[in-house]
Amino acid sequence: MHLNTSLLTRRWQELPPGRMRELQLQRLRHFLRTRVLPFSSHYRSLFAEDGIDPSAIRTADDLAALPTTSKSDLLGPPGGAPPSRDFVLAPDPASLRRRPSTILRALLRGRDRARAALEHEYRPIFMTSTTGRSTDPVPFFYTGHDLDNLALTGRRLMEICRSDPAFRHLNLFPFAPHLAFWQAHYAGIGFNTFTLGTGGGRAMGTSGNVRLLGKVDPDALIGMPTFIYHVLQEAAEGGLHCTKIKRIVLGGEKAPAGIRRKLRSLCAELGSPEVDVMATYGFTEAKAAWPECPAPAGAETGGYHLYPDLGIVEVVDPDSGRPVAEGEPGEIVYTPLDSRGSVVLRYRTGDLISGGISYEPCPHCRRRVPRLLGRISRVSDVRRLKIDKVKGTLVNFNELEHVLDDMDEIGAWQIEIRKRNDDPLECDLLVVHLNVARRVGRERIAGEVRRRIRAATELSPNDIQFHDAGTLRSMHGVGRELKEQKVVDHRPAGAPAIPLTPNHH
Ligand SMILES: [Zn+2]
Repeated sequence: MHLNTSLLTRRWQELPPGRMRELQLQRLRHFLRTRVLPFSSHYRSLFAEDGIDPSAIRTADDLAALPTTSKSDLLGPPGGAPPSRDFVLAPDPASLRRRPSTILRALLRGRDRARAALEHEYRPIFMTSTTGRSTDPVPFFYTGHDLDNLALTGRRLMEICRSDPAFRHLNLFPFAPHLAFWQAHYAGIGFNTFTLGTGGGRAMGTSGNVRLLGKVDPDALIGMPTFIYHVLQEAAEGGLHCTKIKRIVLGGEKAPAGIRRKLRSLCAELGSPEVDVMATYGFTEAKAAWPECPAPAGAETGGYHLYPDLGIVEVVDPDSGRPVAEGEPGEIVYTPLDSRGSVVLRYRTGDLISGGISYEPCPHCRRRVPRLLGRISRVSDVRRLKIDKVKGTLVNFNELEHVLDDMDEIGAWQIEIRKRNDDPLECDLLVVHLNVARRVGRERIAGEVRRRIRAATELSPNDIQFHDAGTLRSMHGVGRELKEQKVVDHRPAGAPAIPLTPNHH
């Protein structure tokens, strides 16, 4: 067992939860005093305006009193220059040279070494950005120090997912300046293990990925659930044998129980009957992803294992912004404790976690790190539909997607929103596209899908259409898009705004 090796130093691993939170706040005070306030122009002026004294942050309530940062702060006012530079820790070289720690380092190790250490810590040398479909992508900068941490969190990811340095890993995330690909890449480096990035569908199509699957014969796959599904399905269709797969680690989109079952059954068809499927959760502003650990089949997962030495995760009421009690659902808010480059404090992710945060030891791996429990859904997954002539309705697409993912008879699917007769003034139509196994009765499945969608959302799809696997792959944009298009909105642009009745969720 690779239990505690590098997960955290024993100091953190063995702390009672209350003491862990005290140490986190101590780290935060130090981080604010020595790194953020001197070097971040955004937070320097914000703390000065609000008269906030970092040394007064002693309790969770003090932390909760600090202002939050949201995506709109990073984007800046519409039409204006994006303020992303204001969030980068940018020390003034002269003042850095006068710091006692720098002087000491220069005395002990020479001036060149001291300068190199400072550049490693502060010079931005890498960036990722958010995928932002509705907004401009926001660049987020890393320094050498951040890349060291990306390899460290990558190693923890490998350990928590019970990988083995002798394993061969296939990283199927798309080549892009996004966290997912690079976290997986640096996981291979941090864990000192073979990891091949295929670049995903756009780099070599599903068939290129299937060929590599056959050649590499991997022990572990890392990537987005829908894309891995398409690759395994095409591999199974082609009669490929791939008998060593033991782990699948998912990221980049939701991974409900249904899709995990489907991935396991495809692996069984390929000749790998024993596969642990785990999800990760991460976002650009955390510069890290947190994994689940392997859980016995049928058991609830242990949730996303956090790194308490590198950041503080809070769960807050999305309306009031106040922290909720342990185990209560709410919005995920993140504060880094050891980042350089771009730094945001109390970042409001817009992601909702259904089971909140837990400080109990994990029931599966017994690690005593805080964990996020339950389903994650995005605030932006709630969409406005105009169901009848008069009013708009909020529909939670999370629920819709779970219905389709959870039905074992359904393979790939797509939900399409369009206007009746493509007329912008008409009502919205909901069309469900499905791929099902040949032996499955379509009438029965259509009836079941209608029944379940109505039970979950009080809506009924206007049409259900069946397609073969290849057609759905191309509808998903595999090979064209960075992310499979599972929900598409074909309503003409410029349709009039819909008056809203907030119900249905
Ligand atoms: Zn665990």
